[in-house]
Amino acid sequence: MTLLNKGHVSIERFHVDNRTAILSLDLEADYGGDDFEAVSQLPVLLKLLESENVPITIFAEARVLKRFPEMIRHAKNQGVDLQLHCFDHRQTGDTSQSLRKSIQIYQDLVGARPNGYRADTFRLTKQIYKTLIDENFLWDSSILPAAFGFGASREWCKESSGNDYFRFDKKLYEFPVAIHPNIKIPFTHSYQAILRKYPAYLLQILGGLPKLLVYDMHMSDLVWTKSINTSQSIPDSARALYKLSWFMRGKNTFSELASLIKNLRNRGYIFTTLDELYHKVKINDK
Ligand SMILES: [Zn+2]
Repeated sequence: MTLLNKGHVSIERFHVDNRTAILSLDLEADYGGDDFEAVSQLPVLLKLLESENVPITIFAEARVLKRFPEMIRHAKNQGVDLQLHCFDHRQTGDTSQSLRKSIQIYQDLVGARPNGYRADTFRLTKQIYKTLIDENFLWDSSILPAAFGFGASREWCKESSGNDYFRFDKKLYEFPVAIHPNIKIPFTHSYQAILRKYPAYLLQILGGLPKLLVYDMHMSDLVWTKSINTSQSIPDSARALYKLSWFMRGKNTFSELASLIKNLRNRGYIFTTLDELYHKVKINDK
């Protein structure tokens, strides 16, 4: 499995004009296992976002599309920007074949093809990149350009310095997942949950916020479920971190999300979806 790096593609670099925030959700089985307890709480999240008047981009695992067709159709009808995540989180990443199966499932459900994609665990492989091009995807949001950790993060860390987003081979837009630009640490809901309110706020001050802010969340970051104790898919080290993030906390982090939305608005961020952003920027990026 070769992760896509900057030697594999031609890269154009772009900036957004204004502070732009996108809430994105990887809608997948709880902790990548076999339970869907947190996923089934999606309508609660959508209700909160509706009351805050904030749109969302959802990357759905194909298993979720198959299991919750009504909930997904309803979300799409409510205006959710629905795109594709991996086929099955229990496997280590998509193959061209599994991605094509997901496209078919998506198409059967919503009657159109997806425009955007997010790879599992921020691991965009060279093979999947090729398949995204072959299948006419318009954009991707898989790269987390942090200084350590996931996928090809480090490869892309330097590249993203001072740049908001990319276009690869003049074809596919890449909207990277948010990090704190001064310290290259991910700015995602799971990190916020581990840090808690005041340290997280301090990190925003010290680490800064990117002008294009693609915030990543999972339902299991938002809702506590018993699978945190029972899921076989969580490695022990990660389980300790997840447990820490829920220690002495209620059963959900919706109020933290609401505060974040308020905070970003106060800083002048305008909320949009990734598909809307794509349609806006492609007109200008000659
Ligand atoms: Zn995922």
